[in-house]
Amino acid sequence: MQTTLRFRVSLSDAVASEAWRQIDILRQIRNHAVRDYYNADYNDQPSDYDQQKRLKQWGNRWPTFAVPSQHAAQQAISQIHTDLDGLEERRNNGHDVGRLRWQGRGECRSVSYNQPCRWNVDHNTGGERFVRFRLEKIGWFRIRANRPVPDADEISEAILKKQNTGEWYLSLVVEVENTPAKPGLDEIGPQDCVGVDLGITNYIHTSDNLTVGTLDLSDEYERLRREQRQLSRKERGSHNWEDQRQQVAKAKREIKRKVLDYQHKLTTWLVTEYDLVAVEDLDVKPMLEDSQNAKNKQDAAWSRFVNLLEYKADLHGTHVMTVNPAGTTKDCASCGVATNKPLWVREHSCPACGHTQDRDLNAATNILNRGLKQIGAGRSESPPMQTALATSAPHREAVDAKCVDEVGSLGAWPRGSSRIQCPWWRLPDRLRRVATHGEYPNWIG
Ligand SMILES: [Zn+2]
Repeated sequence: MQTTLRFRVSLSDAVASEAWRQIDILRQIRNHAVRDYYNADYNDQPSDYDQQKRLKQWGNRWPTFAVPSQHAAQQAISQIHTDLDGLEERRNNGHDVGRLRWQGRGECRSVSYNQPCRWNVDHNTGGERFVRFRLEKIGWFRIRANRPVPDADEISEAILKKQNTGEWYLSLVVEVENTPAKPGLDEIGPQDCVGVDLGITNYIHTSDNLTVGTLDLSDEYERLRREQRQLSRKERGSHNWEDQRQQVAKAKREIKRKVLDYQHKLTTWLVTEYDLVAVEDLDVKPMLEDSQNAKNKQDAAWSRFVNLLEYKADLHGTHVMTVNPAGTTKDCASCGVATNKPLWVREHSCPACGHTQDRDLNAATNILNRGLKQIGAGRSESPPMQTALATSAPHREAVDAKCVDEVGSLGAWPRGSSRIQCPWWRLPDRLRRVATHGEYPNWIG
C-alpha cells in the first residue's frame, strides 16, 4: 500500500516566487481545460487523452502555458478528469452534484509530479537535519528532515504545496512494504470486533460500551473569532490585512491539527485493539437525513475519521466494514424491532422485547451486528455479542477527551484484562511514526 510522508520545506525567495507563479499558471491551464470540456458538445466532450494532446497547441498559442513543467500541466488536466469521474459517481449514487468550478487566484495551491525523472534528492548536504530536493522547472529547495527522506526512485509522487499560512510543504508518496496481513474473516471471533457509533454527545461510542468525549476546542475557536474580528477591521488587501489573514489561517490550522491529532490517536487505538471495526457508511448517511440539518461540518470530520481509520487498518492488518446506516438508532439491538425516538431520548427502550440500554450503545451494537452479518457471522450464528448484551450489558467506561488529547492514554485503556495491550507508544517503530507524527494520507492538506 502507499503512504504519504509530509515534510516542511524552505524555499529561497526566488524559488518560492517562481513556484507560486507556476502554480498559478497551472491553475489557469486547469480553468482553461475545464472550460474547454464544458464548451464541447455533450456527445463530444474531450477525454483526458484528448486534452493532453491539446495542451501543446495551447502552449503554442499562449506562451505562458508552456512555462511550468508540461508533466505537471498534464497532471493538472488528469486531475480534472479524476474529479469529473468522482462527480459522475456521486451523481449515479443519487447525489445532487454541480459542475467543476472555475478556480480563482490563490485557490489552487499545489503542484504535483508523478515520475521519478521529474525530481532529484540530494542527501549529501553535510547535515543530517536537512536534505535538498529539486523539482523540474522549479528548482532546488531544502527539506527539514525530521524523519528519513526516501531516495528519488522510491518516491512515486511528489506534491509541493503552499499553505494558507505561507508555509511550504512537500508530500512524498511512497510504497510501504511488509504491512501485516489481515486475518481471514472466518478467523475473527466476535470479541475482536467492534461497532463504532459516531455520535453527537460523545465523539465515539463503541459496542463494548466505551465512550470517548468530544474534544473541547472552545479556546481555539475563541482565538479564531478574535483573529477574524481583527481581520475585519483591516483594510482589505493592505499589508496589515495580509499579516492578519495569516494569523487567521494559523488559528484555523491549530484547530485542524488538534482534531487531526485526536483522530489519529482514536483510529490507531481502534485498529490496534480490534481485528474488525464496523462503522456507518457515511456516503449513504447524508441522504437518509434531512439535508437542512446543519451537520455538514461534522460530517466532513467524520468522513475524514473513517478515511483515516481505513488507511490505518491497512497498515495494521485490520478490517474496516462500512454498513448501511439506515435505522441504526431506531432498531432494537436485541430483537430488531424499529422504534422511532427523537434525538433527546437518550435511552433505547424496546416496546417489543423490553430491552433497555443507552441509545448510542444500542446503535453501536446494531452497527457491529450489521458488520458481522456482512462477513457471514450473522446474528443468529454469533450470539456471544447478543447474549452478552441481553443478560449483562458491558460495564460502561467513559474516557474524557482531555486524556486522549494530552497523552494519548486511550491506547492504555484496558479492554478486558486478558488482552495484550499495545499502547501507541509501544508500537513497532514504523507504526509508532504513524501514530505520533501522523503520516498524512494524500487526501489531507
Ligand atoms: Zn427489542
